[in-house]
Amino acid sequence: MFDGAESSSGRAKGGEREVKTTCPYCGVGCGVIARVSADGAVTVRGDADHPANRGRLCSKGSALADTLVPDGRLLYPEIGDKRVSWDEALDEVARRFSDTIARHGPDSVAFYVSGQLLTEDYYVANKLMKGFIGSANIDTNSRLCMASSVVGHKRGLGADAVPGAYEDFECADLVVLVGSNLAWCHPVLHQRLLAARAERGTRIVVVDPRRTDCVDAADRHLALRAGTDALLFNGLMAYLDERGHRDAGFVAAHAEGVEEALTTARADAPDVATVARRCGLEEAEVAAFYAEFAATDRVVTVYSQGVNQSSQGSDTVNTILNVHFLTGRIGRPGCGPFSVTGQPNAMGGREVGGLANQLAAHMGFTETEVDRVGRFWNAPRVAAKPGLKAVDLFRAIEAGTVKAVWIMATNPAVSMPDAGRVRRALERCETVVVSDCIRDTDTGRFAHIRLPARGWSEKDGTVTNSDRTISRQRAFKDGEGEAQADWWIVTQVARRMGFAEAFPYETAAAVFREHAALSDFENGGTRAFDIGALSGLDDGGYDALTPFPWPWRVDAKPQKRLFGDGRFFTADGRARMLPVTAKPLPREMPDGALLLNTGRLRDQWHTMTRTGLSARLSAHAPEPRLDIHPADAAARGLADGGLARIATVAGEALARVRVTDTQGEGTVFLPMHWTERFTGACVIGRLVDDEAVDPVSGQPDLKRMPATVGPWRPDWTAFLLVRHAVEPGHGGYWARRAVAGGHLVEMAGMGAIPAVAEWLPGLDPAGAVVEFRDPARGGLRMAWMDGDRLEACLFVAADGRLPPRGWLAGLLEKDGLDDGARAGLLAGRAPGAQADEGRIVCACFSVGINRLVGAIRDRRLTSVAEIGAALKAGTNCGSCVPELKEVLRHAHQREVA
Ligand code: SF4
Repeated sequence: MFDGAESSSGRAKGGEREVKTTCPYCGVGCGVIARVSADGAVTVRGDADHPANRGRLCSKGSALADTLVPDGRLLYPEIGDKRVSWDEALDEVARRFSDTIARHGPDSVAFYVSGQLLTEDYYVANKLMKGFIGSANIDTNSRLCMASSVVGHKRGLGADAVPGAYEDFECADLVVLVGSNLAWCHPVLHQRLLAARAERGTRIVVVDPRRTDCVDAADRHLALRAGTDALLFNGLMAYLDERGHRDAGFVAAHAEGVEEALTTARADAPDVATVARRCGLEEAEVAAFYAEFAATDRVVTVYSQGVNQSSQGSDTVNTILNVHFLTGRIGRPGCGPFSVTGQPNAMGGREVGGLANQLAAHMGFTETEVDRVGRFWNAPRVAAKPGLKAVDLFRAIEAGTVKAVWIMATNPAVSMPDAGRVRRALERCETVVVSDCIRDTDTGRFAHIRLPARGWSEKDGTVTNSDRTISRQRAFKDGEGEAQADWWIVTQVARRMGFAEAFPYETAAAVFREHAALSDFENGGTRAFDIGALSGLDDGGYDALTPFPWPWRVDAKPQKRLFGDGRFFTADGRARMLPVTAKPLPREMPDGALLLNTGRLRDQWHTMTRTGLSARLSAHAPEPRLDIHPADAAARGLADGGLARIATVAGEALARVRVTDTQGEGTVFLPMHWTERFTGACVIGRLVDDEAVDPVSGQPDLKRMPATVGPWRPDWTAFLLVRHAVEPGHGGYWARRAVAGGHLVEMAGMGAIPAVAEWLPGLDPAGAVVEFRDPARGGLRMAWMDGDRLEACLFVAADGRLPPRGWLAGLLEKDGLDDGARAGLLAGRAPGAQADEGRIVCACFSVGINRLVGAIRDRRLTSVAEIGAALKAGTNCGSCVPELKEVLRHAHQREVA
């Protein structure tokens, strides 16, 4: 084993077990130790031995145990809404796919998979589709995340291989974050960077239209105009060459295309003044950034969705690579371009061919590669050409050319651009199979067949993080109900389709061995991805496997950093510099429109099927919120805390307004997480069209959608606290979040307040035991009890005056209400004076904004350290530290004023 073998699962005292596994959220890929007590209770902590995190976890990772609840799980296979046996369900999937292929050919079926799958799951799905069905119609939601980086890597490096390792963040002297909100999207990596900065003074430059939490610790923030990164880097390349910073030796020996790339860059960005004007920056700040880059030998340029999710994403990646090639800043400690992936196993999917334009083991569709994979798999009809990429795939389903689709571990009815089209497509599709661990997802509602998949705590396999480290994910719980591993489900279907011989797997380890052997097959150092050293790993070795970076070739050691020898994976071994011309916005901007940017929040993950179960994670951003600059808000009559209507050519949404100067003028930001299970009207996929797509990578432009924004003034507002989730049917605004013991649903509507029975399914108004009406102010307050326990309470107001939620929400947790609580229930107030936490800032210790502000004021706290000492806030994962500073800044500004 790399780093020496060690036990992955051991007994702690008192019948407890500890299992080493990997966090299922972002691409940092942190190691987690799950401790399972004798009574089955689970706690998690960071794995100090894992090279990605060395014991740290962020707020999401720290709250993993909160999400291990059976709520909402899909427990049994279903055809229609009827529970069936596994045999029936698998037979039916195989029959439908086989029939469709027989009638319409292999390209009439498709798989749409996910970076949430483990590598073994991905490998089997890809093998079935590309090797045995004979179509390459398998694409992954990673298409929406990092497909542009894949293209950039392959064009520049000759292989989809991140050159460096996380250690490079710690030995760089300058780290440039481009379109990467590392503080929220890759928090542990950000913490590592901050630790390096504290220790050795690493300088940080943030290139981002928004003032994200990363800016808090940065030396420089270039708040450039959205989508002008390629221009900025073209200008940087021209600047560096003009001032003699070309590494002539490196370029001469190891790079091709330098003069063409430079000529194009000079034409595009002839001088600093032009770059500054077109990027919307001050000339001095561009000049200072360029000078700093030029003067610093060890530079890492980190980029993520802000670069990738663009119709020019691939080209922008290549402008970044060009700069590093020109200056020889690659293959050395503390140097290199660095793509950080969004999902836990986006990289694993890339390794096995989860993208429609890749075959397997980093091979493409040349005749030689198709032949090689065919011989290795002993496959009769390996797909000979790329399949449909995500956007085209759903268009083909809508058009009826793809007639059967199997969607695994993802929710395209929410996450795809033009989600309305995706929903129409799924509605029309003859066969929709969904494997998921959650029963009721927006996509699952279109399924003809539902297959219960195992969740994070129940699955065995491997994942690859952003620095090519492969780690084991290990099960520490039994599957809920009849849930099965995804690789097992696909294997069973493959056997029923007549391919039993090629799908003999009984364990994840067996799949991994074959995957490792294929990576080494006729490789000879020509392909970057090679883990051939592990192709003979026995089951015990697989169980004990410790994290290691690829490549790990036979008779060699795992390789942390690539390209140190100046050899790239192109035919001649030389890096490719690509000429790139920056492009304008891909869509027309109507008068008065703002540019809508979309992305992640600190404490949520994807479509909230897991993080949405955690009360403390849900408390940081309780509702979908629109961030808008004060000037734009004022011009549109929008107030902080009010509601806004957002409209694009694709659709409309309603969201809570947050007026903030962190948002650039002319732009707004909406989070990507809310689905129709959590809100009535703020699904991002319904707002962004699918017209603007990178022509090479197929990655949709999700960050520059023209939108008109205006106030939405409801006639009434309300909230409901309830033990069981409800989806209000009143047609206005609602947003639901988890609270301890139940759910809090915020609501607002137009017109008269509808009768309760009409809009709150499951709540019988006749069953309310306490009711109070205030006709003068249009108010209504109701409570439902189950014995002494509060079942639900509803507060409605026509004048917007509703009580604080904190104390009331706490009543849901209680087994019974005492007289004082009953008395205060409809008043919405605790019997004694009790402060409301308000929105949670520190998720680890549940410290709310009201307590924070009170403590800062009353105890005269002046620093984050003092807040930590007083309230513990910010002392665990550190994710909230920038926000604590912001709260301090505002509190002191108020004092000075
Ligand atoms: Fe999980 Fe947080 Fe680590 Fe990402 S940074 S892998 S979300 S613990």
